[in-house]
Amino acid sequence: MSPKFETLAIHAGQEPDPATGATVVPVYQTTTYTQDAVGADRGFVYARTGNPTRTALEQCLAALEGARFGLAYASGMAAIAGAMQLVRAGDHVVVADDLYGGTWRLFTRILPAYGVRFSYADATRPEQLAKAFEATTRMLWIESPTNPMLRIVDIAACASIARSRGAWLAVDNTFATPYLQNPIALGADVVVHSTTKYLGGHSDVLGGALVVEDEELHERLRFARTATGGVPGPWDAWLVLRGTKTLAVRMRQHQHNAARVAEFLRGRPEIAAVHWPGFPDHPGHALAQRQMRGFGGMVTIELAGGEAAARRLCEATRVFSLGESLGGVESLIGYPWKMSHAAFEPDEKRRRGVSEAIVRLSVGLEDADDLCDDLAAALAAGHR
Ligand SMILES: *Cc1c(COP(=O)(O)O)cnc(C)c1O
Repeated sequence: MSPKFETLAIHAGQEPDPATGATVVPVYQTTTYTQDAVGADRGFVYARTGNPTRTALEQCLAALEGARFGLAYASGMAAIAGAMQLVRAGDHVVVADDLYGGTWRLFTRILPAYGVRFSYADATRPEQLAKAFEATTRMLWIESPTNPMLRIVDIAACASIARSRGAWLAVDNTFATPYLQNPIALGADVVVHSTTKYLGGHSDVLGGALVVEDEELHERLRFARTATGGVPGPWDAWLVLRGTKTLAVRMRQHQHNAARVAEFLRGRPEIAAVHWPGFPDHPGHALAQRQMRGFGGMVTIELAGGEAAARRLCEATRVFSLGESLGGVESLIGYPWKMSHAAFEPDEKRRRGVSEAIVRLSVGLEDADDLCDDLAAALAAGHR
């Protein structure tokens, strides 16, 4: 019988410390390791190459994704930059339209200077992604659910397109987390996480990770990471590992609260639309039911009163804090037009459905009634 998710989260990669028996993986705050003789080390040599606290986190994340190898990075963007070291000058990458603003910035402002070309297509229509492939396409990059519109992308369909063209499929799984979705099982080659979000879970640590099944891919990524150095420090690895232990219970409550908030907002006249994949009339609902084990903790809304109403709401909540990021225990409210999607040109935002009326909620673990009351009071304040 193989251990289930909750058990893996607490025990995978986290054997009692071999030196002391410490039950909790220690923070190995060391940059170097004393060698027994020249060339005879005990598996660790220098902290950029390896650190036991980081190794524990990597093994745990790999187990949770149902894959063999994990690689931790200093941030989600360091992980994404690490994944992009698989492609070289002359290579082409197909990217699903709806993507994290930081990834867009890397793909449009940094990597083209290294000779990598990118094409974008509508992620909710895999045939459009397939059409964007060229002879030199080496990677397909997607997110699901997407940010901030919470569209659902068919990971298995993307995997078969990528495989038939000899390209890798990379899936940013930050919004779903491994608790709700395992892209490797759906055919993905590289799973990407900003562990800053739900995995860390407490808005107190920055981190990223890649998870892969293929040994050669793992070796290439690991070599590139050692060569470029984007590793997390041991304290940060430890904080992410501690957060990950409670991911399952947190995600269950995030989802419960998000469902309550989504249903509450759907009934309000100030709200023109509520985007939440848990609603049966959400265009991605059936697909989400197939490839996910729940609908997550994010809710995106469109205010009937447009930009002014959206900004007023963002500034009027008291329990929801106005801030960047997501996935922490505290509820956050964000204005994608000026915040997460500030890196996109206005027409690029509009094309993705991100208008001035859109507000994004990361529903936290406070009492669901308090969250709904907070939104009700903030909406009422906007009407005075
Ligand atoms: C936050 C985020 C990132 C970037 O992660 P950092 O840890 O902030 O570098 C990448 N992808 C998604 C979907 C994110 O939400």
